[in-house]
Amino acid sequence: MTKIPVINPATEELIQEIAADSPQTINSKFHLLQRGQPAWGARPLSERLGIIARFYDLLESDKELLAKSLTEEMGKPLQQARNEINGARNRIRFFLDNSEKWLAPEWISPEGGTKEKITYEPLGIIANISAWNYPYLVGVNVFIPALIGGNAVFYKPSEYTLLTGLHIQRLLYLAGVPEDAFQLALGHSAVGELLLDLPLDGYFFTGSYKTGKYIATRVAPKLVPCQLELGGKDPLYVMDDVTDIDQVAAAALEGVVYNNGQSCCAVERIYVQEKLYDQFVKSFVAQTKKMVVGNPLEPATEIGPLSRKGQQDFLLMQIEDAVSRGATILTGGNAVPGKGYFLEPTVLTNVNHTMNIMREESFGPVIGIEKVGSDEEAAKLMLDTEYGLTAAVYSTDFDRAEKLMKLMDTGTVYWNCCDRVSAGLPWSGRKHSGLGATLSYAGIRAFVQPKAWHLRG
Ligand code: NAD
Repeated sequence: MTKIPVINPATEELIQEIAADSPQTINSKFHLLQRGQPAWGARPLSERLGIIARFYDLLESDKELLAKSLTEEMGKPLQQARNEINGARNRIRFFLDNSEKWLAPEWISPEGGTKEKITYEPLGIIANISAWNYPYLVGVNVFIPALIGGNAVFYKPSEYTLLTGLHIQRLLYLAGVPEDAFQLALGHSAVGELLLDLPLDGYFFTGSYKTGKYIATRVAPKLVPCQLELGGKDPLYVMDDVTDIDQVAAAALEGVVYNNGQSCCAVERIYVQEKLYDQFVKSFVAQTKKMVVGNPLEPATEIGPLSRKGQQDFLLMQIEDAVSRGATILTGGNAVPGKGYFLEPTVLTNVNHTMNIMREESFGPVIGIEKVGSDEEAAKLMLDTEYGLTAAVYSTDFDRAEKLMKLMDTGTVYWNCCDRVSAGLPWSGRKHSGLGATLSYAGIRAFVQPKAWHLRG
């Protein structure tokens, strides 16, 4: 039996070893879900909602335990782990309050010779292959509406957040989700591959473009729904009319470093109008230097370790590439000596789009700030990416900001804010950032299929 080590990225110590699934265990879990899904799907919606409401409560009563476990296995500051669980509960609240509306049968023609209606049926058994950076938030986007919609879920937590995956399973069972409606697939990519081999009824993936593209290609012949929530290279543009530069710099910095910079919608590149550029950079660097990097369990810590060693090496390479092409490091640039995968928060200027740091997803507390002469130049640079997740504009003039936001080929745009997700709005990426949407009405309907009824007599 393969054992997967759970390593604390702040200390490099082994927390626990978890047994990975094998082809045999995955197969028997699949047969269990096959037997269980019809009964789960046949339960009244109100019953399924009641069970998810209990899960919502259990997340609150277990919050401290869950937050500490998450911080220990992936390194986000403890308060941010608590915030993540609060955020996940807000999303569940949205699903609890809105699912009945979007899943109820709809009479299109209730009168006349031929009556017509639409009902929404579960897809069946769906795979939820998930990422480690926000395991509660990105998990909840999928397995909650999937379960509410009557599906059975084969949930594959990331191999870097296995403890959180096990907690989620424990609490769902405690809430009343039957074991034959929810199962975990524990392991590395090879276990994910086993899910791709199974005749599942939908694939819902959160992770990198590389894996997402592979999964979409691999499951395409099945002709079942495949949704992808992938990475980004999200730009933030500061127009020359902003008045409180310190505040804008603080907001942008938080967008860069929150969750140790490992958010899909983190600010990944900043453009600033030349009139404000020097002032903005000065303020941004001064605030960056004040950030407390350290043990994520300590209340004062603002930036913890990267979740794994490979990511630290990757970011150091990105910084080296930028410097070799003329970038200037204004602060940071190094790994923090000692145990743990820490990186100093790093600010680079004299950057341009020949550098990897301005083109490929960084996923860490590293940022390039580029000077621009006009809104047109900013728009051109913001659009110069294969990704399309979010784009942010800071300005006191809405009409001017709106003009630019309309040009963005992204699923989300922000005016005077950044790095945020709302349960009521569709969360979707364009181009290499994804396919399909979660959250909002769209993220409820994504887990059901319509049936058209033509009724005569
Ligand atoms: P990843 O692609 O390495 O892994 C994601 C999941 O896929 C893991 O569970 C992994 O085990 C599994 N996997 C890997 N190879 C597989 C294969 N061949 N077959 C089946 N499953 C396989 O991504 P990651 O490092 O876990 O996550 C980071 C990425 O996720 C970043 O790019 C980030 O931007 C993105 N992300 C996007 C969103 C969003 O909402 N758009 C949210 C969170 C993270």
